[in-house]
Amino acid sequence: MKFGRRDRREHYIPNKRVGYPPVFVWPVQPFSALKWLIAIPGYFMPWNVFYVIVGLVAWFLLSPALESFASPSFETVIFLFFRNAGFVAAYFGAFHLRLYIQRRQDIKFKFNPVWPQTGAKKFMFGSQTVDNIILTIGSGVTIWTGFEIGLLYLAANDFLILISPIDQPIYFLVMIFTVHLWRDLHFYLVHRLIHWGPLYRLAHNVHHKNINPGPWSGLAMHPVEHLLYFSCAFIYLLFPFHPAFIVITLIHAGLSPAPGHAGFERVVLDDGRSVDLDSYAHYLHHKYFECNYADGILPLDKWFGTFHDGSTEAQKKMRDRLKENLISKTQ
Ligand SMILES: [Zn+2]
Ligand SMILES: [Zn+2]
Repeated sequence: MKFGRRDRREHYIPNKRVGYPPVFVWPVQPFSALKWLIAIPGYFMPWNVFYVIVGLVAWFLLSPALESFASPSFETVIFLFFRNAGFVAAYFGAFHLRLYIQRRQDIKFKFNPVWPQTGAKKFMFGSQTVDNIILTIGSGVTIWTGFEIGLLYLAANDFLILISPIDQPIYFLVMIFTVHLWRDLHFYLVHRLIHWGPLYRLAHNVHHKNINPGPWSGLAMHPVEHLLYFSCAFIYLLFPFHPAFIVITLIHAGLSPAPGHAGFERVVLDDGRSVDLDSYAHYLHHKYFECNYADGILPLDKWFGTFHDGSTEAQKKMRDRLKENLISKTQ
C-alpha cells in the first residue's frame, strides 16, 4: 500500500488527509461514531489507553501513599522528579533511538528529508536534540512534578473533594473516557493564547524554533509555556476526582507530544507493518505556524477557520487568510 509521495523538494506528503473522527459532524453518524470509540486505531486505542495505563501504574505502583503528600519530604520530591524523568527518557528516547539514531527506516515516512540540525546557533550548544532535552527535563519535568506534588498536597490536606473507584465506579470510568477531550480543549485554548504576539515572543517562539521537529521537540518549551501547558491538571480544583487522575492527566500531557512531533507519519515495525503516529496536523503547524492549533479529536480548527488538511486547496486557503489578515492589520 502506498501511503504518500515526495514533492519536488523531497518533502513527504501523506495521501491521507488530516481528518476528524465521525463524532463532531453533521448529520450525526451514530454507527461510525460508536465504531470509532472501540476501534483500533480509534478514540481510546492504542494511544490513549497506553497513557491511562502508564498513569494508573504510576499512581498505584510508583507513587508514595496520598497521606505522605500532606507534607511531602525531600525524598518524595526527588523520587517523583526522577520517576517522571524516567518515563520521558524511556518514551521520547525510544522514538528518538529508533528513528534518529539507529535510523531504522531512514527517511521513509519522514516529512522533512533533512535530519535535525547541528551547529545551528538558535539551539543551545548548537544542537536541536541537546537543546530540546535540556528544556524537556530541566523545565518541563520540573514544572510537571511541581504541579503533581502541589495538587496532591491539596488533596492530602482535604482541600479538594476525592472520589473512590469502588463507591463511584461510573464517575471514575466517565473520567477515564473524557480526560483526553479535556486535554484537547485545554491544549487548543493555551495554544491560541500563546500565539498572541507578546506571549509568542516571550515564550512560544522557543517551541517553534523546531521547524523540522523530532520526538524531543514535543516538550521543548519555554518555562512560561510549560506552566500554561501543564495547567490542564488544575481542572481537578473544580471537580471531585481520584488522585490517579492528576497523574494520568499529567502523564498524558507529558508523554503524548513524543509521537506527535516525531517528524514521521508512520513508524515501521520489525515485521514490515507500520503504525500511524497521527502527527501530520501538528507537523503542518510547525511548518506554517498559522494553522492547526488544535491537535487531536475536537475539530476546533475547522470551527474557527484555521484547519489545514495537507491538501493544496487548504494551502491556498491558508495563504489567502494570512494575506487578508495582513491587509486588515496594515489598514
Ligand atoms: Zn509542537
Ligand atoms: Zn504554535
